[in-house]
Amino acid sequence: MTAAPDRTEHVLELKQVSRQYGREVTIEALREVNLSLEPGDCLAITGPSGAGKSTLLNIIGCLDRPTSGNYFFEGIDTTTLSDHERAGLRSQRIGFVFQSFHLLPHRSVLENVMLADVYRKQSQRGRCERALAAIERVGLAHRADFLPSKLSGGERQRVAIARALVGSPSLLLCDEPTGNLDSKSAAEILDFLEQLNLQGMTLIIVTHDENVARRAARRVHIIDGTLTDITDQTSSRIPAEAAMKSDARGAPLPSGMAFRDLLEEAIAGMFARPLRTLLTMLGVVIGLTALVATVGLSFTANNRIISQFDELAATEVIVTGKSGLTGVDPLALPWDAAERLLRLNGVVAAGTMSAVDTSEVLVSASPVRDPRRQTAFNLAIHAASPSLFAAVRADLESGRFMDEGHSQRMDRVAVLGPTAAQRLGIVSVEHLPAITIGDYRYLVIGILRGVARQPALLGSVIIPEGTARHDFGLQRPLSVVIETRIGAASLIVQQSPLALRPDDPSALRVEFPPEPQRVRDAVQSDLNAMLLLLGGLSLIVGAIGIGNITLVSVMERIGEIGLRRAIGATRKHIAIQFLLESATMGIVGGILGASLGVLIVVAVSAYQVWTPVLDPAAPILAPVVGGAIGLVSGTYPALRAARLEPVEALRN
Ligand code: ADP
Repeated sequence: MTAAPDRTEHVLELKQVSRQYGREVTIEALREVNLSLEPGDCLAITGPSGAGKSTLLNIIGCLDRPTSGNYFFEGIDTTTLSDHERAGLRSQRIGFVFQSFHLLPHRSVLENVMLADVYRKQSQRGRCERALAAIERVGLAHRADFLPSKLSGGERQRVAIARALVGSPSLLLCDEPTGNLDSKSAAEILDFLEQLNLQGMTLIIVTHDENVARRAARRVHIIDGTLTDITDQTSSRIPAEAAMKSDARGAPLPSGMAFRDLLEEAIAGMFARPLRTLLTMLGVVIGLTALVATVGLSFTANNRIISQFDELAATEVIVTGKSGLTGVDPLALPWDAAERLLRLNGVVAAGTMSAVDTSEVLVSASPVRDPRRQTAFNLAIHAASPSLFAAVRADLESGRFMDEGHSQRMDRVAVLGPTAAQRLGIVSVEHLPAITIGDYRYLVIGILRGVARQPALLGSVIIPEGTARHDFGLQRPLSVVIETRIGAASLIVQQSPLALRPDDPSALRVEFPPEPQRVRDAVQSDLNAMLLLLGGLSLIVGAIGIGNITLVSVMERIGEIGLRRAIGATRKHIAIQFLLESATMGIVGGILGASLGVLIVVAVSAYQVWTPVLDPAAPILAPVVGGAIGLVSGTYPALRAARLEPVEALRN
């Protein structure tokens, strides 16, 4: 910053200042303007619309730079200052009062006035007292807690003046300060401004109104960017000793903002329209709820499916005769296969099971009341050792299982699979139902409800092995189903052929369980990919929602953006504020989404009596993901807000 000591007597001095707009067609908004102002001056700038008044005001207020010429403020050449330093000058030395007040509608009078301190990087201590003192100075102490909407136009303008006075500026810039007021309020505001001037405040008032202009000691008129001094030399300036001397306060600090203030502004921005903020967050809330809930539920359900599946698959071994050229060797397994296997350490249950050739065996329910109406079914018939029921984890709907005695005595008894029983029309064994298999009558002693293994048994008629041997010429059991202890399957796979056929173990074929971990991984990764895709899609919708609403909010708050720039915000401050607002919405959305997701997982698990399985990272990651979505979707609107010219924004 360059300081010219000889100019410290002036509050400001413009030398040959010009401002042009446009490149191809240039508009000369200001032409070589020379103007200087001493402390305590009251200057009215008049001129028709489009003459260049706002352009001049914006240059004086360091909201715009001249195209050529020099502008000194309290001796500092502002044309050499950085954006940050110019913002610092605005926040510390210049007060702004606008025609349309530019008060934040959702903040109280006190909060609106305190806003002036936000960009001065001052600690929050004393901020409230300074604001209250300024409010008292404009005579509105009894309205400090009011919202602007509850105030009259004149009162609102006084709040705006209080906001401008908080930092004890060297210059008060008023742009049509009475333009929106009725004549009574306008007169009051003018009286108040006159009072301020009499107390030594340097004032510039831009106005259309002759009555307003006439009250100023100095007057300049602009037409087509050219400034003419039309001061009535008889008018009196305030005495020099009353003027607040421009006391060479030195270069202003660059404008700055404490993080706490930034956060408070962002949160206040969010709460300005709580319902809209809530609706905006809904996209992210739904997306993250879906994500956390689906991932949690998939873990929970998978855990359950997989644990059942693992246990069943990992403990099942089936031994059959090896297939040769003539089919499966029917003599490969001994009759006492189940007993032999049960002697092995690691076998929980074992039972033999053989499909009886049913090509010519029809089964029908009997006794037959009307032989003409009798229906015969071609049902599967299995011969089973009594221990098979435990090995396949069968449970009964009605009656009982067969036992060793049935087989030894070759009793004609049968246990029906549930589908077979349904087809035969037998629902219970209470009335001793019987069925006819080929030429023999069998007493139904049990009906199964289900089996965990060997689903073929569900539609089958199960008879004792001894009986099958006698009635259907079963030579040997065809397979043996083994349930092992968890982890013992591979050992049993090795040992069972030797236990069953020590003479020729290679005559047997052993089916062993698939590797559960690989199956689990395949199932889980497919499921998770789909659910993540669904959650991801919801999040994209949420991101578009936040981006869209932040953009709408930027458009709605153009005036506020202009005001913030005027009171000292840099482009960076504006961008950060909007980014923080959208990120906070994302984070809050994330927290809500994660909580709802966890609740859903817990509720569904409680209902299903499952153990909820939650990835501990999910509730922590959800707010982070939400925040990131908010940041990304808020970037474009925030940049647009930052790029707005304060001059244009304030006109809006
Ligand atoms: P006043 O405040 O006296 O009504 P302004 O200072 O707003 O006048 O404008 C002076 C001239 O500069 C007008 O012709 C206006 O159209 C032009 N002007 C102002 N701002 C811009 C801009 N950003 N781009 C182009 N022309 C502009």
